[in-house]
Amino acid sequence: MKLTYRRFDLTLRHPFTIARGTSSVDPIMLVEVEQDGIVGLGEAAPSGRYGESIESVGRFLASLDASAWNDPFLLEQILAEVDARAPGNPAAKASVDLALHDWVGKKLGVPLYQWWGLDPAKTPLTSFTIGIDTPDMIKRKVEEAEPYPLLKIKLGSDHDREIMKAIRSVTKKTLRVDANEGWKTKELALDRIEWLAGEGVEFVEQPMPASDLAGTAWVRERSPLPLIADENCVRVGDIPTLRGVFDGINIKLMKCTGVREAMAMIRTAKACGMKVMMGCMIETSVAITAAAHLSPLLDYADLDGNILTTNDPYQGALVKDGRLVLPHEPGIGVRPAR
Ligand code: MG
Repeated sequence: MKLTYRRFDLTLRHPFTIARGTSSVDPIMLVEVEQDGIVGLGEAAPSGRYGESIESVGRFLASLDASAWNDPFLLEQILAEVDARAPGNPAAKASVDLALHDWVGKKLGVPLYQWWGLDPAKTPLTSFTIGIDTPDMIKRKVEEAEPYPLLKIKLGSDHDREIMKAIRSVTKKTLRVDANEGWKTKELALDRIEWLAGEGVEFVEQPMPASDLAGTAWVRERSPLPLIADENCVRVGDIPTLRGVFDGINIKLMKCTGVREAMAMIRTAKACGMKVMMGCMIETSVAITAAAHLSPLLDYADLDGNILTTNDPYQGALVKDGRLVLPHEPGIGVRPAR
C-alpha cells in the first residue's frame, strides 16, 4: 500500500474563539492510501489541546511504513499497529483509519453506513456552533445560522451573560452550551448551569476543567441540566470512570483515533447508560462525512466543522433543514468541491 499526505490550510468564515483561544486559519493534513488502483481518503485535523500540531502529524505519518501493509481489509491489525507506534497522535492515527475505511468501502462498492448496517434515514439534527464574540457579531452569526434549528453556544468566559443576552434577543431556538472547561470552580459552574436551565438550554458540555472530576460529580448531583463530557472523554478507556460524573460523552474522530474506536465508544457509552454525541474540530468534508456515517447511532450531533470554513476542498454529507444527509457513494463518499 502507498500512503501519501499533504497539508491544506482551512480558512475560517469568522475568527473562531472558544474559552481557550482564537484561530482564523486551521491547517489540516489530507491523507491518501492507494492499493489496486483504489484511493482511500483520510484527514488529520490536529488540536493543541491533545498535544498535536500539523508538524507532529507529518512526523507521525512519515514514521509509518505502509509498504508493509498489502491487505487494507486487515484494518483491525493495521490500526492496532498504527496505534502502538507511539502514544498520543490521535488525529494522525485517525487519518489512516479514515483512509482505510474509505478504501474498503470503495473496494466493496458500499457507503460506510451500509457496511455498518445503519439506516441513512435515521440521521439526527446537527447543531451549528457560535463561537465567543462581541454581542453585535454574535447577533450576526445567529442570523447566518438561520437554517439550523439547533445552536451550540461557546461560553466559559466572563462574558457569558452578555453573550446569552445577545443570542436571546434574536432567537428562541433550542441551545446547547459548551463551556470548554471555562468555569474553574464547582460553585461557579453550578451557578451558571442553574441560570442556563431557565434560558432554553438542552445540555451543558464540559463545564469544568477535565482535571476536576470530583468537582464535576458534585455539580452533576445538583445540576438541573445533563452534562456531556468532551475534554474528559478522549478514548474508549475513559468512559467507565465518567459513569456517574457525566450524563453523556462527546466523541470526536480526531481525539479517539478514528471511526473504529468511535464505534467502540458508542457501544461502551450505551452499555453504561450514557448519551452519545459526536462533535468535530475544524475539518474538511472528509472527516465530517466519515463521522456523519455513524450519526444514525447518536443522540446528539455537532458536525459543523466544514460549514465554519470557506474553502472546504470536498463535498460529502450535507445539512438539510438542520438534519445530516449522507452521500450514497461508496466509502466515505466525498467528491472534490465544484
Ligand atoms: Mg466541546
